Amino acid sequence: MAVRLLVIGSGGREHTLAWKLAQSPHIQQVLVAPGNAGTANCGKISNSEVSVSNHSILAQFCKEHSVGLVVVGPEVPLAAVQAAQLEASKSFSKAFMDRHGIPTANWCSFTDPQEACSYIRTASFPALVVKASGLAAGKGVIVAKDQEEACQAVLDIMKDKTFGSAGETVVVEELLEGEEVSCLCFSDGCSVSPMPPAQDHKRLQDGDLGPNTGGMGAYCPTPQVSQELLQQIRETVLQKTVDGMKEEGTPYVGVLYAGLMLTKQGLKVLEFNCRFGDPECQVLMPLLKSDLYEVLQSTLEGKLASSPPEWHQDRSAVTVVMASPGYPGSYKKGVAITGRYASETGVQVFHAGTSLKEGGVVSSGGRVLTVTAVRSSLEMALHAANRGVAAVGFPGAVYRRDIGHRGIAHLAQHRCLTYKD
Ligand code: AMP
Repeated sequence: MAVRLLVIGSGGREHTLAWKLAQSPHIQQVLVAPGNAGTANCGKISNSEVSVSNHSILAQFCKEHSVGLVVVGPEVPLAAVQAAQLEASKSFSKAFMDRHGIPTANWCSFTDPQEACSYIRTASFPALVVKASGLAAGKGVIVAKDQEEACQAVLDIMKDKTFGSAGETVVVEELLEGEEVSCLCFSDGCSVSPMPPAQDHKRLQDGDLGPNTGGMGAYCPTPQVSQELLQQIRETVLQKTVDGMKEEGTPYVGVLYAGLMLTKQGLKVLEFNCRFGDPECQVLMPLLKSDLYEVLQSTLEGKLASSPPEWHQDRSAVTVVMASPGYPGSYKKGVAITGRYASETGVQVFHAGTSLKEGGVVSSGGRVLTVTAVRSSLEMALHAANRGVAAVGFPGAVYRRDIGHRGIAHLAQHRCLTYKD
């Protein structure tokens, strides 16, 4: 029987999920609420105006429109689910990791700013990262350069309430150094099926310079994570987390995202997310060989171990975010976007902050489009994504040209070593 789905969200991640789900022969229609210009009347995909904040209205809508499955993109609608505390409360997730022996930075949580500051001044490790415990739209983490700055961050979060109630509890933790990678998996509550490792680029400008953003691009797979390391991540982080959640009576079913730091002392978990990352989703979905709807069904039915998803092993994907001029500060909206959206095969433009105005597409957010290219090598994927970006007419767009540079440098070094050997 053909199925109707609802995807919640309006970013590049949600366009990508809708695009992948629409390829399934099981799917009759993909509704996206609220969606963007890319998900408005595009083949099987269309937007819906149903309110996503009111769960009973949403449930009623799903009943009336025979929606068989709801896929949630962003974190906020998920926070009401018990198992999503892994993401929604950093103090919960840090304590959970300690209970289950999952490697993470040393930490302590506080509800009193004075206690947090005395801890920062006397901690036996450089406790220089201050985090609002609750959801703060990715902005609640301050990496301080000294104790003074860390204490100021505590006061800003707890006294001036820069992140509102998300900062009622703060987590103070050890500063970790190393390379960051994103390792996601599907979990059916018992077993996990890891996705290929990815890396995003938070800084605005080439060379990882400039201010932090929601993410300016991503690539997958990251050659820095070997098969052995991925296996280790699977066993010591992903499976342990799913086992722990089951043991604590809140089985974890869905997509689990582990943000990891590869330190000299080994891998450590920075954070968990209970959803796909954006822009990681834009490189993961094009590399998924299996039908996403079937994968989600196996996830829900506890059948991941017997029918694990398949991935395109011999390909790499790069996605480049095109942002509004001024982003991540204040930016202009309503800029007309023209040009070619699909410049070559294997190149896909996903919409994020776009809307339709008088039949044309205009910008309506900070991150506006994401251009993904899939090729047989990381370098080729980067060049194809950059060509895709150049084909889009978006005056003043801000974007990076070096997505994947760490992976490319790693490969070059590895080739060099192999040659010398
Ligand atoms: P989180 O939301 O906890 O992942 O933090 C957001 C970002 O802050 C991470 O992606 C890291 O770049 C940085 N970060 C978080 N915790 C640490 C840490 N303990 N040491 C160094 N950087 C960190």
